[in-house]
This record gives sequence, C-alpha cells and structure tokens, in this order.
Amino acid sequence: MDNISPSNTTSSVSRLIQELSRLPGIGPKSAQRLTYYLLRAPDEHSKNLAEAILSLRQKTQLCSCCFNIADSSLCPICNNSKRDRSQICVVEQPQDILAMEHIGVFKGLYHVLHGAISPTEGIGTENIRIKELLARLDNGQVKEVIIATNPTLEGEQTSMYLHKVISPLGIRVTRLARGLPFGTELEYADDVTLTRAIEGRREL
Ligand SMILES: [Zn+2]
Repeated sequence: MDNISPSNTTSSVSRLIQELSRLPGIGPKSAQRLTYYLLRAPDEHSKNLAEAILSLRQKTQLCSCCFNIADSSLCPICNNSKRDRSQICVVEQPQDILAMEHIGVFKGLYHVLHGAISPTEGIGTENIRIKELLARLDNGQVKEVIIATNPTLEGEQTSMYLHKVISPLGIRVTRLARGLPFGTELEYADDVTLTRAIEGRREL
C-alpha cells in the first residue's frame, strides 16, 4: 500500500468499489465501506481475501454425482459412506444444501438442479440437471426422492414435473411441507421452519 501514488489511488479504489458493488446484496455504499476498510486493514487481510477468491474459482468444481460444489470429483456428502443412499433430496442451488445441512435432520444424499423450470425465462427441463437425476435413480438403490425446490412458481413447476417423471419408476416422491411461505427461497428459511418442512413432508 505504501507505494500507491495519489494518481492511481483513485482508480484502484474506484475499481474495487465497482467490483464489490456487483456482488449480490452489496450496494454502492457497502462497497465503499468495504473498500475503505480494506485500505486501512493490514496487508495480510487483503492478501488472504484475494487468494481465497482466486482459489474459489481455481480449486472448486461440481460434484460428478450430485452437482454440489466440491474440491474433488465427489463432494464430502457423496463421499461419506454413512449417508443414507436410499434418499435423495433435490434442491435448486448448492447453497440450499448448506441450509439443509445446518438443521442436520436429513441424512441422505442430495441432487442440485442448478435452477428451476421457468418458461418465462426460457429455462426448460433440459436446461437444469434433471437428466442426471434420472440417471441416478437407475440403480434401484433410491427409495425416496424429496423435492426441496423453492416454494415459488418455478419451484412448484419443477416439483410437478419431477413427480410426473419419477413416480412411474416406483420411487416414493415427497415434497417439503407447506410451512415455508410461498415465494421464499430455501436458503433464507429459518431452521425451525425448515425442520418442520422436512419432517412434515408429504406424498406428491
Ligand atoms: Zn455430491
């Protein structure tokens, strides 16, 4: 930081403010606050943050089984032999797994769709990881698929479609209970509501 001259200080500062304000949930004011915080913080702090951001992109990949975020070809959940392989909980995004794992009620495996069916946005069944989910159901090990897509229009459409294609396979298809308010996203649900939703899941 010592060798930053006044002429490029402005552009470095504004560059970071600009980059930070592109992040979800961070407006220009927060971006400004974070930038000036980093400017005052020890060099080590910025270095660690920059390295963590770089390694996030370089060292992570999608789990080849469930499409969760992973450090190697299988995520820690798929790799864990103690997890119940007869249940698969289907979620829209990897961060939904964090919410589910936080309550610690579900002991099975997951499947991340990476989206939901949305005709208005041009997202069809072939644009999310449905084909890969169906391939996982082929081995006869899976007895129940718990659909934990968001309680939104897109999440409901996805849920209905999954029920239509999975139930003929003779696998139990359940949906999280309606305790979750319509329109909320799973990752923002509180622990009590989410626990009730999974314990009170119903047949589709
Ligand atoms: Zn996995």
